[in-house]
Amino acid sequence: MNISNVGVIGSGTMGNGIAQVCAAAGLKVAMIDVSQSAVEHGMAAINASLERLVRRNGLAIAERDAILGRIHGSIVYEDLAGSDLVIEAATECKDVKISILRRAEALMAEHAVIATNTSSISITELAAALSRPQRFIGTHFFNPVPLMGLLELIRGLQTSDDTHALMLAFATRIGKTAVTTKNSPGFVVNRILVPMINEAIFVLQEGLASASDIDAGMKLGCNHPIGPLALADMIGLDTLLAVMGVFYEGFNDPKYRPAPLLKEMVAAGWYGRKSGKGFYSYQAA
Ligand code: NAD
Repeated sequence: MNISNVGVIGSGTMGNGIAQVCAAAGLKVAMIDVSQSAVEHGMAAINASLERLVRRNGLAIAERDAILGRIHGSIVYEDLAGSDLVIEAATECKDVKISILRRAEALMAEHAVIATNTSSISITELAAALSRPQRFIGTHFFNPVPLMGLLELIRGLQTSDDTHALMLAFATRIGKTAVTTKNSPGFVVNRILVPMINEAIFVLQEGLASASDIDAGMKLGCNHPIGPLALADMIGLDTLLAVMGVFYEGFNDPKYRPAPLLKEMVAAGWYGRKSGKGFYSYQAA
């Protein structure tokens, strides 16, 4: 099977980025959200992203227009009917995702693949809610989608070899490098990254070094492009606390306990960049 028509559910941060990279690879895309204003917001983000590529990377105007012409924003779920692949990138809530995935599956052909961009919900559990669990897989994109090279492919217990092979080819087609993992909390990248950030917060809390020295240590000593505390501020401390909670619950292992300082800062509403204060202070632009 060749994937040529893609449906994307959710036109937020991740959904509009996924729609953009699929359209840039020549695929036709239906991007669905719950309201017209959400769809328009997603289309505006794609426009702005392509505009930056025109200005900074020499994307031709005709190519920009062709990419936009391949994306159909809609609030009508039936527009997913002809999709060979639907990628769900809606709000991170299990019940919401199950109802969306069932609705999409009922509209799609037998051969079609359904994927989810969840960052924390079990792929095996979501697959079990569907009638064709063998056609279901996790596709974990990274933010911002047009710029990040990685696509984690997560196989649920039920995912077939054929579905996996199709998605490996899809990753190549959209210019991403795929890394395959079995289903497990945090998959591969966040399983390693988030506890590392949590440990940096323990180091700060214990007064071993200042935030800027911890970040300088990891940048200059490990060649990381950004320090763990500055990265925490970018990701959002509330999000990090939620992810540590998923690990703690998922593995039943105290090594994933969130740093008390992380909990305290979240309780204070210090979420990082988005609230203007985290490990560093940010001025509103
Ligand atoms: P977001 O809040 O920016 O966008 C979610 C969109 O889903 C919203 O536009 C919302 O209106 C829409 N939506 C909600 N219910 C819907 C429904 N029933 N049908 C259609 N659309 C619906 O969220 P996001 O950051 O784009 O995250 C989307 C998914 O990607 C989540 O599962 C998240 O965990 C995952 N993810 C996020 C990131 C990140 O850095 N933001 C990275 C990797 C994975």
